[in-house]
Amino acid sequence: MITACYCPGLFEHIHRRIKESNHVHFQQASYLRHQEVDCRVEVVTDQGSFFAKHVFSSVFQAEIDKKKYVYTDQHFKGWVIDTPEPRFDDTACTFMDFSIDQGDEVRFMYVLPHSPTRALVELAVFSTTLWSQQDYDRVVQQYIREQMGLDQYTVKETEFGIIPMTSYPFEKNNTALLTYIGTAGGAVKASSGYAFDRIQLHSDAIATCILQGRHPGRAADVFKYRHKLYDATLLQVLDKKRYRGADFFETLFQRNPASRVFDFLNEETSLREEVVLMAGSPKHLFAWSMVESLLR
Ligand SMILES: Cc1cc2nc3c(=O)[nH]c(=O)nc-3n(C[C@H](O)[C@H](O)[C@H](O)COP(=O)(O)OP(=O)(O)OC[C@H]3O[C@@H](n4cnc5c(N)ncnc54)[C@H](O)[C@@H]3O)c2cc1C
Repeated sequence: MITACYCPGLFEHIHRRIKESNHVHFQQASYLRHQEVDCRVEVVTDQGSFFAKHVFSSVFQAEIDKKKYVYTDQHFKGWVIDTPEPRFDDTACTFMDFSIDQGDEVRFMYVLPHSPTRALVELAVFSTTLWSQQDYDRVVQQYIREQMGLDQYTVKETEFGIIPMTSYPFEKNNTALLTYIGTAGGAVKASSGYAFDRIQLHSDAIATCILQGRHPGRAADVFKYRHKLYDATLLQVLDKKRYRGADFFETLFQRNPASRVFDFLNEETSLREEVVLMAGSPKHLFAWSMVESLLR
C-alpha cells in the first residue's frame, strides 16, 4: 500500500504511545555531532552528551556527489482547505494528476480528502530548481479554482517539503555502532519520494536483525537492488530529459491495473510483472539510461 497521507494527530498519537511504554525515554535536544569512542557512540547535543552502544540516526548529513549519483529534488507545497458545503468524496483521492502545465519538469497534483469538507491539495515537482512560495501557491490556487471548480474555501494549513530523490547508497554511511534510518537511511523511494511505508518496512527489518543477533545495518537489504536500479534508471531518463515523466506515469497507469502500478511503486511485483509493466516504455531509452546509471 502506497501511503500518500495527511495525518492530523499523528505526532500526538506517537507521543501518547511513547508515554505509555516504560522503556522509552523522550529527550528533546539539538543534535550537534557524534563521535565513536571505545566501542560506544557519544552524541553531543545542546543539552549535553549521551552515550550508547548503538545509535539510530535520522539526521541527514550526507554529502551527495551529484556527478556520481543521479539526484533531483521533489519539492512540494500543499494547502489544507475547508469548504462551507460538502464537496469531497472522502473515500477516494486523486493520485498524481499530471493535467497541469508541465513546463520543463515533472509536475503533478494530489487531492487527499480528509472529510467531505476538508482536503489536502498538493503540488509536487521533480526538479533541481526550487520555486518561490508564491509560484507554488499560484498553481495550487489555479488547480482548486479551475480543475476542482471551487471558489469558496478557506486555507486552514499549508505544508512545504523537499525530499531528495537519488541513487546515492545511503546505507554505506552505517558503521559498526551507528545505523541511519528514515531519509538518511535510504528509506525514501528514489523515483516517487515515498517514505512512510518503507520506513515501516525498514524498522521491521531492524527489529528482526536485532532479534536474530545480526547487525541492524543489514536491514538496509530490505530495499531490493533490482528496484534501486529501476529508480536510478527513471531518474536518469528524467535528468537527461529523454522522456516526459507525465508520459511515463500516464502510460504505466493506462496499460496496467492501478493495483499493479501501486504494487510496483511499493516494490511488491515479480520480475515477470515488471516486464509487463515496462512494456509500454521506449525500451532503447530506458536500456541506455540503465547502462548510464550503472556506469556513473
Ligand atoms: C510535508 C511533507 C509531507 C510528506 N508526505 C509524505 C507522504 O504522504 N508519504 C510518504 O511516504 N512520504 C511523505 N513525505 C516524505 C518524508 O520525507 C518521510 O516520510 C519522512 O518524514 C522522513 O522521515 P525521516 O525520519 O527521515 O525525517 P523526519 O520525519 O524529518 O525526521 C527527522 C527528525 O530529525 C530531527 N532533526 C534533524 N536534525 C536535527 C538536529 N540537528 N537536532 C535535533 N533533531 C534534528 C528533525 O527535527 C526531525 O524530527 C513527506 C515529507 C514532508 C516534508
